[in-house]
Amino acid sequence: MRKPMIAGNWKMYKTAGQAVFLVQDLAMLVKDVKDVEILVCPPCIALKSVSTVIEVDKLRIKLGAQNVYWEEEGAFTGEISPVMLKDLRVDYVIAGHSERRHIFGETNEMVNKKLRAVLAHGMKSILCVGETLDEREEEKTADIIKEQIFEGLAGVSFEEMKDVVMAYEPVWAIGTGLTATPEQANDVIGDIRGLVGSLYNEEIAMDIRILYGGSVKPGNIAELMAEPEIDGALVGGASLNAESFAKIVKYEKVEE
Ligand code: PEP
Repeated sequence: MRKPMIAGNWKMYKTAGQAVFLVQDLAMLVKDVKDVEILVCPPCIALKSVSTVIEVDKLRIKLGAQNVYWEEEGAFTGEISPVMLKDLRVDYVIAGHSERRHIFGETNEMVNKKLRAVLAHGMKSILCVGETLDEREEEKTADIIKEQIFEGLAGVSFEEMKDVVMAYEPVWAIGTGLTATPEQANDVIGDIRGLVGSLYNEEIAMDIRILYGGSVKPGNIAELMAEPEIDGALVGGASLNAESFAKIVKYEKVEE
């Protein structure tokens, strides 16, 4: 059985102090949730303070980083290494988020280097894939995703795949209020599972968790989670508020 995961990507929001309040508020609201893995990905300046709160308060919440550079150290001004993230007890690192790909020009090759560096340092990674609106309209979704997966996972061993989570995030649905229908998301995630199976094997394909991301909110999480291929959600905007994120973690059905 794949354990559901709900991950919050706080993007470039929240100071370190605000991030601490947010994780504490969230922890209180989800304290009875045991069967969902909960992850928060604050901005890097808040990783240390959130990590400390998680450890001191013994919270059942995992810590994620939004980005990493693949070298261990060196003259790479502004970058953060996997060694530094590991030292802060980071559990997961996001690789290939569409904002990194499209705003900061990250290629599949760079995403792959990041993913492999994270795994090599004993952390887990969430590999994000997804098509733009133009690509969907030109019916290129399957090709784009295949390329992102094959190039993103190049050189990742069978053994390392246990530390990989994937997220299908159609770019046209991120921060836009547009959501893929549960059926659309389920279909593409089913295809992603098939691609993982063709690269690795059936067991790895059945075990890997694949999240959906793109304007997930309390009002649509229940129907997304009802789909058999969807193992959770990567949530941006709605994870910035403890109440709405907690409702998503509990997949409460909310009429909007
Ligand atoms: C994201 O940042 O990964 C995301 C899905 O954002 P939002 O939920 O705001 O669309």
